[in-house]
Amino acid sequence: MSETTADFFESAPPPAAPDPLRDDLLAMIHARDYVTPRHRQTALGPSDVSHPCMRRLAYAMMDEPGSNPEWDPLPSIIGTAVHAWLETAARHANTELGRQRWMTETKVQVTAGLTGSCDLYDRDTATVIDWKVVGTPRLRKYRKDPGPAYKAQVFLYGRGFENAGLPVNRVAIAFVPRGATLHSLHVWSADYDPKIADWVLERRNQVIALLDDFDVANSPDHYQWIPASQHDCVFCPWYSTDPKGPLQCPGDGS
Ligand code: SF4
Repeated sequence: MSETTADFFESAPPPAAPDPLRDDLLAMIHARDYVTPRHRQTALGPSDVSHPCMRRLAYAMMDEPGSNPEWDPLPSIIGTAVHAWLETAARHANTELGRQRWMTETKVQVTAGLTGSCDLYDRDTATVIDWKVVGTPRLRKYRKDPGPAYKAQVFLYGRGFENAGLPVNRVAIAFVPRGATLHSLHVWSADYDPKIADWVLERRNQVIALLDDFDVANSPDHYQWIPASQHDCVFCPWYSTDPKGPLQCPGDGS
């Protein structure tokens, strides 16, 4: 059975009767969420470049207006809060150790024009670690395979630490369950392979070249010439079940 967005969000129905206090609380949460940096972000980062769909990256690089409505912000709000807490956990561990085993929120330069902030780096094992806070259906899926986007992202962070002169032996993704206990924490890891980072950056360069070759700024129809790969299309800002133009993609690879 394929995953639905209801599965992803693990939704429960709202109360049947109107509740003004509930409405006020929701308005407060949405207003605060709207001023978070992710709503003001303009520069693309490793997570954008890591997505396997070249057409999606092309839309993002050109900052084209999306057509897909924004999803409920709560998973992102929880994810941000958990990341902040985990950073305090790493700092506490360093204090206890009396040395800096864990480097947190390290700004890395992956290549010219591409920077990122990496969640965690373990100096003892030279491991780059990215926290992902996920719901239970996704956790089940990622236990089998974290997928191409998340894997590519940690290899790009690996390149960033290399560029900073630090050794990188391993890359890892630590999946923290949003709706379960720490018993379910799942860690995927692999040897760092610089060729994977090269490959992801080469794909980025290809997209830059295609944007120019196809002159999409003046001929947006040419976006359809850029290869599309289906991957989490339902969460793609340019996804539409009823595309009305070249900036809306049906997510069928056409
Ligand atoms: S909807 Fe899917 S195929 Fe289309 S641009 Fe987005 S990720 Fe690519």
